[in-house]
Amino acid sequence: MNQSTQISTAFTILTCIFFLLSPEQTIAQSKVQQQRDTVKILPKSEWKGVEGKPYKQQVPVQITVHHEGGKLLTINDDARQRLKNIQTWGMGPDRKWADVPYHLLIAPDGTVLEGRNPLTVGETNTEYDPTGHLLICFLGNYNQQKLDNNLLKVLTKLLADQCIKYGISPQKISTHRDHSTQTTCPGEDIYAYFKNGYIVKEVEGLLKKK
Ligand SMILES: [Zn+2]
Repeated sequence: MNQSTQISTAFTILTCIFFLLSPEQTIAQSKVQQQRDTVKILPKSEWKGVEGKPYKQQVPVQITVHHEGGKLLTINDDARQRLKNIQTWGMGPDRKWADVPYHLLIAPDGTVLEGRNPLTVGETNTEYDPTGHLLICFLGNYNQQKLDNNLLKVLTKLLADQCIKYGISPQKISTHRDHSTQTTCPGEDIYAYFKNGYIVKEVEGLLKKK
């Protein structure tokens, strides 16, 4: 390679780099980098969770909201112990799952806890395929308990954070029962806020402010 060939090769490479890092792309990347989560997610170590086992990979393209169902969980109960129990049961002989079935969990006091890695597919006991879903679950039973203003704020802010993080439209937020006829999940109280359009509208409003 003579000198002029070297210069022309270098020029070609630089031109390629310039097009790869076009201004629009750089702006988009910097927006993502600047975006900070508005809701703090406590790591697994906070509830003494063990690492999940390797499982099918995914990039979330929609978000589905759940409740745990079964037992009530009040603000005075130990939400972290409840989550630890879910993991022990789910990874045990009953289910043999790779981890907790859900990616993010919300305690009755509004604390958000890390679950399964969002880049791995979640789990379900019903007939829908959760591939591509980011699963957010309220601990407790919302057929019997109710969301308060704090929980509604946490949920909508968390949803907005995740929409930005994965480039998901608020229109792609739904609930478990929208995908399955075998369940009333996420419970009557939570579902009411989806049915009347409140949640999606609030998330759209939060995204406009960013
Ligand atoms: Zn569910």
